Amino acid sequence: MNRKDIVLIHGTDYKSMAKKVLERGDVAADIGDRDKKIGLKPNLVTVKDPAEGATTHRELLAGVIEYLQEQGFENITVMESSWVGDRTGEAFRAAGYDRVCSRYQVPFVDLKKDSWKEYDAHGMKIKLCDQAASVDYMINLPVLKGHCQTTVTCALKNNKGVIPDSEKRRFHTLGLHKPIAHLNTIARNDFILVDNICGDLDFEEGGNPVVMNRILGFKDPVLCDAFVCDTMGYSAKDVPYILLAEQLGVGSTDLAHAHRIYLNQPQPSENFHPSVMTRRVQELAAYTAPKDACSACYGSLIYALDRLNRSARLKDGLPPIAIGQGYQGTTGSIGVGPCTSCFKKSLPGCPPSSADMVRFLAENW
Ligand code: SF4
Repeated sequence: MNRKDIVLIHGTDYKSMAKKVLERGDVAADIGDRDKKIGLKPNLVTVKDPAEGATTHRELLAGVIEYLQEQGFENITVMESSWVGDRTGEAFRAAGYDRVCSRYQVPFVDLKKDSWKEYDAHGMKIKLCDQAASVDYMINLPVLKGHCQTTVTCALKNNKGVIPDSEKRRFHTLGLHKPIAHLNTIARNDFILVDNICGDLDFEEGGNPVVMNRILGFKDPVLCDAFVCDTMGYSAKDVPYILLAEQLGVGSTDLAHAHRIYLNQPQPSENFHPSVMTRRVQELAAYTAPKDACSACYGSLIYALDRLNRSARLKDGLPPIAIGQGYQGTTGSIGVGPCTSCFKKSLPGCPPSSADMVRFLAENW
């Protein structure tokens, strides 16, 4: 796997999906010697069950550990520090990681209790926790989700969990974007396994999960975050730290030349009943007419509708957006995805990206 590759897998058997992404990425060969120290950095920002859209699902962690142990790696450490104000140990238990670490006999390090050193991060002094600095290979396990200050958050910002709390506070006083970009010149991102299962609409602490049931693999954290923007209806240009990281040589935002590797195709999902949505997501879903829609497609549409809502483009009387395999071969006014290709207005792409949906709906709805 190279830095232009994006591996995508859909489904609900998250542990086995995580293993398949690592197998496709040939992570074992990428790591090399079996005695290397491997760090696993999930997102345990706060004390929440992953179903709320804030934290990394424990099944991803279990899948990564199982894959590594089956490949003969034993020097594995899970490490994280929650945001300022929450105890990492409580977040660790709330996400069910205690059971995973106990089952696979893998240690967990609370980086809030770790020592640190200051490094020159491409012209900016940044403190990095010693445990994170000591690994030979870091697997970053972020959640794809919205963020009230930085718009989106995924690989690059997840590394805020490998710095001491005093540094997190300083990052906020500096406006987040510049220090996050510089941090990623010293924090390792050897492989990124993205939890795109049900990340939040717009808050890093969760509360409005958008189900997409997808796991992604990247070698390049900048490409990862550019893809996240596309998935949520934005462009990398909307998120200054992504472009800054690119300028600092951390990676590339060039999605046009990225190579998407689909390990399976999306399947229709049962996740669109109002009873499984929060009120905010229900309000956006009221503009849709799903019929056997796939999670990744429907989640992209919800993110697109949220963007249109923010620019006051949603109003009563708009025809519902048709989406889903149930529309194949039928006619109608407007729909997204090739399943609605016989409609008067239809957006191609399977699934279409949320950014394309925003443009299409703004012009044609
Ligand atoms: S276009 Fe149809 S088949 Fe493709 S992801 Fe969307 S609903 Fe599924």
